[in-house]
Amino acid sequence: ATPLLAVDNLHVEFVTRQGLVRAVNGVSYTVNAGESLAVLGESGSGKSVTAQAIMGILDMPPARIPKGEVRFQGTDLLKLSEQARSQVRGQRIAMIFQDALSALNPVFTVGWQISEMFRVHRSMSKREGMKKAVELMDRVRIPAAKQRVNDYPHQFSGGMRQRIMIAMSIALDPEVLIADEPTTALDVTVQAQIMELLSELQRESNMGLILITHDLGVVADVADKIAVMYAGRIVEKAPVYDLYKHPAHPYSEGLLESIPRVDQKGQDLYAIKGLPPNLLNLPTGCSFHPRCPYRRDNCVTDVPPLFEIDGARSSACHYYREVLDGTAG
Ligand code: SF4
Ligand code: MG
Repeated sequence: ATPLLAVDNLHVEFVTRQGLVRAVNGVSYTVNAGESLAVLGESGSGKSVTAQAIMGILDMPPARIPKGEVRFQGTDLLKLSEQARSQVRGQRIAMIFQDALSALNPVFTVGWQISEMFRVHRSMSKREGMKKAVELMDRVRIPAAKQRVNDYPHQFSGGMRQRIMIAMSIALDPEVLIADEPTTALDVTVQAQIMELLSELQRESNMGLILITHDLGVVADVADKIAVMYAGRIVEKAPVYDLYKHPAHPYSEGLLESIPRVDQKGQDLYAIKGLPPNLLNLPTGCSFHPRCPYRRDNCVTDVPPLFEIDGARSSACHYYREVLDGTAG
């Protein structure tokens, strides 16, 4: 069957004064209706740039897409006109960002801003739009929605503002929702509540959900599958449970060991040593080799392909078998 959304061998580069930045280097992933994919990686791994390419919100130039496809229900969005593209953006594929406060307009009530979606895209009247806004605020569990619809963004807490952003993103019943670090600015309890809300909304409306995060702990209970990115490439793909049990790439292993655990309070966390890669000057061979505890000689010279382990899992490590078995290093 045709996947709902398929990113296929996507390449994105930026022309900068310092040189060509290869931000995304052959990324492929799919998401289906009712499925949730977590895209995990440090900042600069290319996870947000991939999402911006899906949405068609990259600045072009300096960005260019020399290769690859973004297929939505089989149609390559990269080949569509800007007008056709804008019919998809926000309506069929929607996105929410980390910073709800700067995404909302401070001088309009939240109800007005939510209802604008319906006025602009569904030709509804103000009255109908406001009614819809209240319904949506209820749906994202904002207490006393009927009264609060007339409040301004600054009158809400960070978590509630993020719920308002979520309400706007699902207003037009998108088939795919992309959430880019939706909870990074929030405290831990609120993070969990927002994740739970996204997960519920996804199940209710059978959306495909893409959760972009640097924090493996946050997506644990919500994602079905994970794509781990490093230096513009996917280094591991796995069902979430498999990755937790047995990571197949040393970088995933490092991310897993960096999750704070309640039962390990006071212990030093294993943090992945070394600096994130310089995209202007990527290491030879395996991009992760300068930071990898298991590096061998050929890692410095040979780029590892994304080895398929089984239908659902793959790893871009020459020694993925040893990593899986726990016999690497
Ligand atoms: Fe480490 Fe080599 Fe695997 Fe890269 S290919 S992750 S350097 S063991
Ligand atoms: Mg980002």
